[in-house]
Amino acid sequence: MKNAVGRGGPGARPPLPPLGRPLLWLAAVAWIAAGCTWLSGPLPPWHAPRLAPLLTAPPGLAPPFSSAPSWIPSGAASPPLEHTNPTASQAALPPPILASQTVTQVIGYSHQGLPLEAYRFGDGPRRVALIGGLHGGYEWNTILLAYRVIDYLAAHPEAVPPALTVYVIPAANPDGQMKGVGRLGRFAPEDVVAEASPGRFNGAGVDLNRNWACNWTPVGLWRTTEVSGGTAAMSEPETQALAAFVTQPPMAGVLFWHSAANAVFAGGCNEPFPPAIELAQVYSEASGYPYLPAFTAYVVTGDAADWLADQGIPAIEIELISRERLDWEQNRRGVLALLAYWGTE
Ligand SMILES: [Zn+2]
Repeated sequence: MKNAVGRGGPGARPPLPPLGRPLLWLAAVAWIAAGCTWLSGPLPPWHAPRLAPLLTAPPGLAPPFSSAPSWIPSGAASPPLEHTNPTASQAALPPPILASQTVTQVIGYSHQGLPLEAYRFGDGPRRVALIGGLHGGYEWNTILLAYRVIDYLAAHPEAVPPALTVYVIPAANPDGQMKGVGRLGRFAPEDVVAEASPGRFNGAGVDLNRNWACNWTPVGLWRTTEVSGGTAAMSEPETQALAAFVTQPPMAGVLFWHSAANAVFAGGCNEPFPPAIELAQVYSEASGYPYLPAFTAYVVTGDAADWLADQGIPAIEIELISRERLDWEQNRRGVLALLAYWGTE
């Protein structure tokens, strides 16, 4: 019965003239020979010039994505992709290209000349930033967590309130990432080549969370180890790039991920900064990481979040539980709560 439905009813199409069916087949064969190859084969010619720079890593750099598909734009700031061929139908385009709407920009370069990339979500008037990897490959799980957040926001654009422009900077210390992980961009935990501390510092050997102009000293502490705070406060190019990016114009809030102390801290330079404390409490409540009023294990000089408090910008530091796990569900809840807070304050 099923086959009869629609075939012989009153609305059925009249039979095609004798030549109709062969012509349809010829058209289909021609389309398969020409157009279909674009779906599985090389990109259609009108894409080649636009995509070539996006699919090629900058000279001397490893491809930035180890496992992601090659259509993800990389390297320098990428304009949103759009197809310009007026005759191509939407259906004939490879869908992954259209799905990649994430906008990236390079906000500066490291001591070794590697790019600091920011991924942008939303276009509201209030700017905020989520930053991973300030301590490079030594805290590589914070880099992977930031990429996880990037993927999440790309898949859930509704999570970004209309009032916000959210920047995610996954690797604020690309020199340290190269040292600890052996590549830029995305990587797998198996890629981590050095667990040792050198991956914590930038190419000049400076601890980038001892270089900021709050209680700066040339030699800082990391536990009981002395580390370089740089030749002067704000001496490092990574520090300068980040500082300029978050202060011009001033951001509404900044988050740094570190590992691993299982806590949330609020920035404040020698005195509590209530807006940062409020941020820390929002994140703590949603994520379950305890909020600690002060880091007491050792004296920290030249801290980024503390300097931001002096600029009137509330900043918090999230210390993951371990140096391997992403604590994804905790941070997903924390980020969503923070975005909602920033989006309505
Ligand atoms: Zn750290």
